[in-house]
Order: sequence, then structure tokens, then C-alpha cells
Amino acid sequence: MSGQDAVHGASLEQHFTRRLIQQARQVLDLWQRLQHGEWSAPYMAELVETAQRLGASAERLYQADHIQLAGSISSCLQAVAANRGRLTSELIAQLDGLMQRLARTGLRRGDGQDAGILAQLRKPVFLALCDGERSARLVRQLEFFGFTAVVVADAAALRLAMARRAPAALVMEVDFGGAGGGLRLAEEVQEGLEQALPVLFFSEREADTRTRLAAVRAGGQDFFSGSLDAAMLLDRLEDLTRGSQQEPYRVLIVDDSRAQATFTERMLNNAGIITRSITDPIRAMAALGEFQPDLIILDMYMPECLGTELAKVIRHHERYVSVPIIYLSAEDDLDKQLNAMGKGGDDFLTKPIKPRHLIATVRNRAARARNLKARMVRDSLTGLYNHTHILQLLEDSCLRARRDQQPLSFAMLDIDHFKQVNDRYGHPMGDRVIKSLALFLKQRLRKSDYIGRYGGEEFAVVLPDTDAATAVRVLDEIRRRFAELNFPAQPQDLNCTFSCGIAQLYGEQEAKALASEADQALYRAKRSGRNRVLAEDEENCRLAQA
Ligand code: GH3
Ligand code: MG
Ligand code: MG
Repeated sequence: MSGQDAVHGASLEQHFTRRLIQQARQVLDLWQRLQHGEWSAPYMAELVETAQRLGASAERLYQADHIQLAGSISSCLQAVAANRGRLTSELIAQLDGLMQRLARTGLRRGDGQDAGILAQLRKPVFLALCDGERSARLVRQLEFFGFTAVVVADAAALRLAMARRAPAALVMEVDFGGAGGGLRLAEEVQEGLEQALPVLFFSEREADTRTRLAAVRAGGQDFFSGSLDAAMLLDRLEDLTRGSQQEPYRVLIVDDSRAQATFTERMLNNAGIITRSITDPIRAMAALGEFQPDLIILDMYMPECLGTELAKVIRHHERYVSVPIIYLSAEDDLDKQLNAMGKGGDDFLTKPIKPRHLIATVRNRAARARNLKARMVRDSLTGLYNHTHILQLLEDSCLRARRDQQPLSFAMLDIDHFKQVNDRYGHPMGDRVIKSLALFLKQRLRKSDYIGRYGGEEFAVVLPDTDAATAVRVLDEIRRRFAELNFPAQPQDLNCTFSCGIAQLYGEQEAKALASEADQALYRAKRSGRNRVLAEDEENCRLAQA
């Protein structure tokens, strides 16, 4: 091959690679749009076609994972077509699983696997801040976690940079280039953009409602005031740029009429919502535990009990206190409706109901409940699940693992000699180390793993579908990488390590016993010298050492 041909070959491959990435993104976008709209024939046609094109591109580039995923997505869509264009809960769950995998699958090159599709599409983040030193510090921290950040010095520089390449997000100080200048500039930059640019505003001073309103109008997705906390900013940027795929909502329907339940299910499935229905209210608690819905729809009049009575029973259980309950009934007596709402319900819908009305109500309620729940179950310093919730997730996961006969591992981590970090570098530095480890775990574990802050400097991870040996390998890699992290500090930079204990679920073991085994393994890891990962089982106890 002549030199010129080689160049041509390389750029052609680049061209097809870019196409493949764009097609994958388009498939994901279409799927996300379904979560906000309704399933319609044109969407379906577009998705079918894009998935096919994705498959063809993948074949040309010999991308086995993408060939397989595109094939599976296409056959799922064929099943939808065969079902007269109707989605079912199973098909939604299947498609969602494939989409989540597609979002994570990287292109295979000669030297192994690259980051996921979305990471490859990752655009830079623009920083428009008044304080140059703050910008420089942020750039370093963002880069540390895999973001590219570009500092713009003034309005002209931002316009120029925008003309070259739209960023993933813009971090804008309210007073950039003069009082309120950032607000006006952000608004100006938004004009003419096809898709709104996510802007994160920052103000050193406490901002009043007027300022915050202006920020919202200029496309502000969040507003930080006081100090610009890197961990919080990273968290938001992760959400905005990692294209986190929102999972479909899950709705449990309790209705003694099978026909009515099926009817409701169809309406919701059509909007990409996963449903389960039961006709026997006595089974509601078991279904709640197993299905973990975002929302419950209750029929008002059932032979066994009233919807309001069942709602009360559900509310007896602390963990379901905030799951939204919507009553669905032919009752149009307003007094009775109001009375029902006072009894543990959140809304009252009267049959017959228009699909759009039902879907909108369900989506709104479910979205707010998810949001509220996220605040309740998360630790405020790290954004990880708190102690109570991670144990609850462990219990749920144990049930599921037993039912599906899949392995499950539980890991407990504890930062080594953390007291010394606090003593030598101060409590705020200690907090930074904790936050960094949290972020590190989030970045390096799978989306299906649950990560919690168990206590002060202790963390816990639930790893579904993972045996102890694999969990040890994964956590040990994280341990090694974390130990390499350098925290800039005075009088000298700081390195931290952690120890980790792992246990795998066996037989009829209770979640508590599993947790205690992981704890014992952690204790042994500490005793045998720290900075290591140990599994509970003496037999296949794998010692992974520095
Ligand atoms: P070991 O290697 O045995 O784990 O030693 P250690 O010093 O890490 O263990 P120890 O449990 O004795 O000390 C933990 C320290 O963590 C004590 C506590 O002050 C500190 N700590 C707990 N929560 C926080 C927190 O939220 N922020 C900070 N900065 N420190 C915390
Ligand atoms: Mg401790
Ligand atoms: Mg410790």
C-alpha cells in the first residue's frame, strides 16, 4: 500500500468509526425520547432503521459487541412489530437492558477495549469563571476524573470556542465579565443552538431569587453558590455528560378486574413504562417487595378490601411511606375522592381516563418520588447510598440472587489510618479523601452495583451477578489505582489506601450474615497489614497484595 493509500485508509476507517458512534447515539436518543413521549409508528420505524444501519456499520468495522447488540435490538423490535406494534413490560425491560449495554460498550481496537460509546463522544467542559486560579484548580480536578476542561478568559473567547465546537456543558460565573454579565452571555450563547446547552451557574455571593430565575431562563441546570465544590460539580457533570440513561418507570397495578388491569397496563407500556398487575390485594406487599415499583395504582373497590384500606396497610411499612399511590375508580363523587386522598393516596383518577392524562400523571408523580427518594436514601457528603439503604439493597439483592440462582458478592471497604489524615491534614482534607474515594468507586464499578457509605470512612458495595473471585479482582484493581492517587496537600502530597473484605452469598444465608462475613474479612485484611483485598472463604481466600 502506498503512503497515500494508508492515509486514505485510516481516514476512511475514522469516517466509519464516527458513523458507528453517531448511529449508536441516535439509537440511544430515540430510546430516551420514548421515556418522555409515547410510542408511535414513526419512532418505531426510525429506531428499526437506525438499529439496522448500526449493525451494518459494526460489521464493516468488525465490532463483535456492536454487531451482537444491534442484532438483539433489531430482533426485540421485530417482536414489538409482531405484537402489532405494542410494547410489553418484558420487551421494555429487554430493550432497556440492551440500551444500557450499548451505552457502555466501547469500540474494540488492536489494544483492547476503549471507554464506552458515550465516553468517546465526550466533549469538553467550558469554564467561564472570574478567578483564574480557581479555574486552573478546577481544570486539574476535572482532568483527574477524565473530563477535558477548557478555560475561557472572556466573552470573545467563549464565542470563538463555541463556534469551533459546542461543549458538553458550560460552567458560568454569574458575574463573568461584569455584574450579571455571565447571565446575559449564557443567554446569548444559547441562541441559535439546536439543542440547549446545559449551563451550571456559580455565584460567590448568595444569589437572590431574581438572579436564580435569570439563570434558569439562560438554561441553568443547577446553581452553586458560595464555594464551587469540585465534587458536587463533578457529580452534576457526570449526570449531564455521561448520558446517564434514565431507567424506565415501574408501576404496580392492583385491580380485581383483570380486564381493567390489562387495559391500564397497555396504556402505560405504550409509553415505555414497565408494569406488573395483581388482582388479589392480599399479595400486594409481596409484589411491592419483589417488583420495587416507583408508583402504585390502586383500584378503589375490590371484593377483598377497599383501595384506601390497602393504602393504609402499605403505609404501615416505613420503606413504602413515600411511594406515590394513585386511586383509579369510577367514583366521581368529589367528597369521596377527597376523603380517599386523605387516606394515604396522592391522586385520584376517574375512569374512563385518557391515556395521556394517565401517563402524564404517572410520569410526574414517579419522577418526583424518585427525586425525593434519591435525597432520602443518599448520604449528603458523597451522594452514595446511606447505611440503612445499602443494607436494604443488600437484602433485596439477596432475594433476587436466590430466586435467579445467580452469585452475589458484598464488599466492605475501610480507609487505612484515616485518623492520621485528619490529624495531620485537617478534617476538610479528610472529607476530600472520602469524597474522592466515593467518586472513584462510582466511576469504576458497574451501573448495576450498589455503592454505599457505611459509616465515617467505611464503604459497602453490593455486586449482583458476581462471584467472590471476580469481586476480589475488581476491587483489587480499584485498590491499586486508588493508592496511586495523589492528593495535593501541605506540607507534602498525600496518598491513601484502603482495606477491603469480600463475602459471597451462599445457600439460604441471610443478608445480615453475609454482611458480617464481609466485615470479618475486612478485619483480617486490616490485621494482616492493610492495603489489601481479602475474601471471606478460607478455601478460595485470595490474597491480593500490594
Ligand atoms: P484503620 O486503618 O484501622 O481503619 O485506622 P483508622 O484511623 O482509619 O480507623 P479509626 O476507625 O480508628 O478512625 C476513623 C476516623 O475517621 C475517626 C474519625 O474521626 C474519622 N472520620 C469519620 N467520619 C469522618 C468524616 O466524615 N470526615 C472526616 N474528615 N473524618 C471522619
Ligand atoms: Mg473505621
Ligand atoms: Mg479506617
